[in-house]
Amino acid sequence: MNHILILPKPKKLELRKGKVDLSQGVSVRLKDERGPRRPMMLLTRGLREMGLRVTVEEGFPITLSVEKEVNNRYGEEGYILDIAKEEARIIGGSEIGVLHGVRTFTLLVRTHGVEMPCMRIEDFPDLSLRGVHIDLKCQMRRSKYLLELLSLLSEYKANAVLLEYEDKFPYRRHSIISAPDALTREEVRLFLEEADAHYIEVIPLLQSLGHVEYILRHEVYAKLREAGSIYQFCPSNKDSIKLFSELAEEIFELHENIKYFHVGGDETHLLGACDICAERVCRIGKGGLYAEHMMNIRDVIKNMGARPMIWGDMLITHPDALRKLSKDFIIVDWDYWSTGELVDRVLIYTVGAFDSSNIDKVPEDLRRVYEPYWKSSVPGKFRGFPYTKFFKDQGFSVVVASSTRSYGDTYIAPNYTRHLPNIMGFSREAKRQSAIGHIVTSWAIRRCPPETTWIGLMCGIAYSWNVHTDEEYFKRAYALCLHGLDNGRLIDLMMALGAKMPTLESRPRYNPARGLWERDICLKEELEQLFRSPEVKHHMNTVQRMRRAAHELLETLSSSRPRWNRRAIEVWRLEAMTMRHKCEFLLTMYKAWRIFRGELSASRASIKSLIEELSRLRKELWMLRSEATRILGPVLTERALLEELWMRYDEEASLLNETIDRLARLLTSKD
Ligand SMILES: [Zn+2]
Repeated sequence: MNHILILPKPKKLELRKGKVDLSQGVSVRLKDERGPRRPMMLLTRGLREMGLRVTVEEGFPITLSVEKEVNNRYGEEGYILDIAKEEARIIGGSEIGVLHGVRTFTLLVRTHGVEMPCMRIEDFPDLSLRGVHIDLKCQMRRSKYLLELLSLLSEYKANAVLLEYEDKFPYRRHSIISAPDALTREEVRLFLEEADAHYIEVIPLLQSLGHVEYILRHEVYAKLREAGSIYQFCPSNKDSIKLFSELAEEIFELHENIKYFHVGGDETHLLGACDICAERVCRIGKGGLYAEHMMNIRDVIKNMGARPMIWGDMLITHPDALRKLSKDFIIVDWDYWSTGELVDRVLIYTVGAFDSSNIDKVPEDLRRVYEPYWKSSVPGKFRGFPYTKFFKDQGFSVVVASSTRSYGDTYIAPNYTRHLPNIMGFSREAKRQSAIGHIVTSWAIRRCPPETTWIGLMCGIAYSWNVHTDEEYFKRAYALCLHGLDNGRLIDLMMALGAKMPTLESRPRYNPARGLWERDICLKEELEQLFRSPEVKHHMNTVQRMRRAAHELLETLSSSRPRWNRRAIEVWRLEAMTMRHKCEFLLTMYKAWRIFRGELSASRASIKSLIEELSRLRKELWMLRSEATRILGPVLTERALLEELWMRYDEEASLLNETIDRLARLLTSKD
């Protein structure tokens, strides 16, 4: 039985006879004077932080070296960690390999203690690029949190972040674009330095066609709008390329040595909307229009010395565009709905979702292209993640993109029942298709607190390293490594909190006047819709179930003593309390609503008890609001925090006041 639980799960781990004891101190040394100094310093620092005595001469010896043989067998990132009775050896295929060995060793000491069994680990990653998406378009995090996140990611062997600045980059020439809580130049520099210190590649993302409301909302750029819409640039207007080029230049100026640059390009549903574009579409098609624009964008990026990345959805919708696209584009194939090798439906952006009942409705030209990739041997089922192989077959390099936070999530927690299989499955597909790597996206407009997304981020990193990690292993190792808790069920309880739940989606809509993402519906109207719905009974059952789920998580958390990352556990506690509160709020408001409509008889006693319950909820709401301020305050900027508090608590508070007043009036009328 293998009792060692660490993330990512090592490829080969063999326990040996005997134990070593580090409690008397360790001596960290290089086998060769010219050996890997940075990993040695990181190991020394890591062990000292855990209270170990580290010297050069005395104590249990740990020797670090780079050896060609390891490189030949396991590649640059490969390493061997051999813990024997007399000494421990960390041998890497390169400096990075040694560093991975150091991370494994440090994690072992942290999670399993200073007395550890002898063992030999031989390890290497399945995917060479293992990253996460940091989306700054809303819920802006403080610079300090972003730095801590980098260090956390690197502990688990991530080596890339896709940084979507949106309006949080400190533009100079186009300073009008930058939000009040944008990063400062100093903060960007600090972030990049920290990333470099952790061997993390930062891939900036700058949208080049759609999703540019944050730019085009400003009147100075009005001429670049596609058919008057602030959503998309007009690709036929040369000034769109010029603006993109100027913005990219500012980013290149702060980021030195950019290897990859992501130019966005997803969901550009306005292709051909203006007269000039429409005329071009008649000649070259939407795919042609898209590809020609993207080739101009590519030239900008290539001239600045980086390789372009592009989202894959529009290339799936318009596969003819691929013929005009140069092969130095890396296609980032995003798919947040496939959950395994077989799925019930396939999607084509702007065309539709198709299952076995309507698959014949897919336009003939697209069906011809994709049928070989969808087709499975099981009737009624399709191959999951079908487009990675398609793009590879067209001769492109591919990075896959799963999601830990996307469409359909509540602002309480991600729906991991959907996301985890998506993340695990896509890692496996990436390996099968020899993709370059895997990036886990995390869309901030869905609004669950950043810490609640970590399970998915870590899952992506861990599975990109070792696609054959068992799900139960992952859950137990996550609880142990991240929090020092030996309880795999904790993750299941957290997963339950992210189930679908009425009225708790962020429902984002951009407000161009404020430059902020807001909800597209007010809570009062949403409740009205919910209570009038023919499925209200079913929804209220969901609410009851979620209340129990929240309660169960709270019970478990109250008896848990996390050793690390305590704030993340506090966040989960806040989320469970908020969920329980929201459930009770909905159940009580439904009662009040039915009384107002005359569906429930309203005795004086029942009105009185309802007022009491709503007053209790109002009190609880203020307690939650102040907890949220305390817990999320250090993570979010002040501006972002106020937005979160409004959505989560303030809007409800005014509704509670209104309802209590109305009930009080009803009570008076009964006198
Ligand atoms: Zn146009």
